[in-house]
Amino acid sequence: MKTVKIKDKKFSIFISSDKIQKSIDDIAQKINNDVKGKTPLFVVVLNGAFMFAAELLKEININCEISFVKFSSYKKTKSSLNVKKLIGLNEDIKGRTLIIVEDIVDSGITMDNFINDIKKYEPKDIKIATLLYKPKAFTKNFKVDYVGIEIPNDFVVGHGLDYDGLGRNLTDIYKIIE
Ligand code: 5GP
Ligand code: MG
Repeated sequence: MKTVKIKDKKFSIFISSDKIQKSIDDIAQKINNDVKGKTPLFVVVLNGAFMFAAELLKEININCEISFVKFSSYKKTKSSLNVKKLIGLNEDIKGRTLIIVEDIVDSGITMDNFINDIKKYEPKDIKIATLLYKPKAFTKNFKVDYVGIEIPNDFVVGHGLDYDGLGRNLTDIYKIIE
């Protein structure tokens, strides 16, 4: 079994890049159908979603804009309740269709905060696309419109996701070995 060591932790291969690509293609097709005729603004959540977003957006065939936001809320392998905004949106989003692009929805706290924040600026519609989703960790009520792959409550790295800053460049996704 393929394993990697990052700092003090070991990880074993969990999701192959082939499977990841297929799930991204499925999401892209759905978005292309759902948002036809609109000019959505894709809002990519840095840093983790950079790789997913690049691959997803190459498959999007409708006119769209792309922008980036950044929060800090995760320390090493534990989610913290304190979400801080580091980079915000400059675009006027009133009346627009937004598609938020995330690497993973875990507790949902980060996304819930962000949604409540941007709702004040009156977008027409907010859709959420996430590569990974941990349904058993989810504590919020918002709808996740596009999910690549559902996973159990294990800490994962690769394909944009990091452990203490490292591992984002791995093409496959690995899960922690306890
Ligand atoms: P939430 O607020 O939904 O609990 O978590 C939001 C953020 O925590 C995600 O966008 C992601 O950056 C990070 N995160 C959650 N679960 C994991 C995980 O298993 N691995 C990594 N590397 N980051 C995670
Ligand atoms: Mg993230």
